[in-house]
Amino acid sequence: MSSVPVAVVTGSNKGIGLAIVQALCKQFQGDVYLTARDPGRGQEAVAKLQGEGLRVLFHQLDIDDLQSIRALRDFLKQKYGGLNVLINNAGIAFKVHDTTPFAIQAEVTLKTNFFGTRNVCTELLPLMKPYGRVVNVSSMVSSSALRGCSQELQQKFRSDTITEDELVELMTKFVEDVKKGVHDKEGWPNTAYGVSKIGVTVLSRIQARMLNEKRKGDHILLNACCPGWVRTDMAGPKATKSPEEGAETPVYLALLPSGADGPHGQFLSDKTVRTW
Ligand code: NAP
Repeated sequence: MSSVPVAVVTGSNKGIGLAIVQALCKQFQGDVYLTARDPGRGQEAVAKLQGEGLRVLFHQLDIDDLQSIRALRDFLKQKYGGLNVLINNAGIAFKVHDTTPFAIQAEVTLKTNFFGTRNVCTELLPLMKPYGRVVNVSSMVSSSALRGCSQELQQKFRSDTITEDELVELMTKFVEDVKKGVHDKEGWPNTAYGVSKIGVTVLSRIQARMLNEKRKGDHILLNACCPGWVRTDMAGPKATKSPEEGAETPVYLALLPSGADGPHGQFLSDKTVRTW
């Protein structure tokens, strides 16, 4: 078994994920895994970084596929006996003008951004080694979507006692309410992406609390963040930040020094803790 520290970035064959891997290859003292759902696209990205003289490793990972997540989990367990850095970056967004019915957009978006990310956490968080760092890439859109929720929902999502099961129930309810055509009446905002990222931010707050309760002595720090508005296939060419700039906050959180006792359980953008 290797004692070399290991970092994994989900959805890193392009965009912000690729820029995060690139930065980690330069700054993280250990093995860095670029992961992709499509091995062909993944290997192409690996070749690009290798062409820049960087040392990078590859593992397949589709966060929609529990078998794929578990294969990565078993590989990390066997080869490294755990994991030091996990960046949950993989995500999807329908374009504003996409004509796919909202009910399908809601189901598909929540499936990857919330349920997929949660499944990765369920399988990989138990592997985190002491002083591990976990970064869940959310979005400022989670904050604006939160403000678009009913007072009752806002209170639930801001609660310091909400459980993971309760959050899963709420995310499931959003998809069902959209399908029934009652999401507006039930206090939800009109954005599937926004609700999925509320899920990611609240999940991070819950997971940080659980780490405090169950693994306090392990000094693991877990946070959610927004990379900013970044020029990628998702956000388009008009966005203000380059992928490298978008990677800065996630990489900062991934490399918090071992002496740091925070941030933890926070939502950050531009390396700054934001009020949830
Ligand atoms: P992107 O260029 O579209 O890249 C998304 C990445 O996620 C791709 O590598 C994609 O793989 C991967 N992915 C999607 N579904 C996956 C799955 N089921 N399993 C594994 N990988 C999957 O988007 P981006 O702008 O870099 O976004 C990265 C993250 O930042 C996302 O979580 C996004 O919500 C968040 N974010 C972005 C912005 C922005 O302005 N760009 C702002 C706020 C937050 P494929 O190539 O196979 O599709």
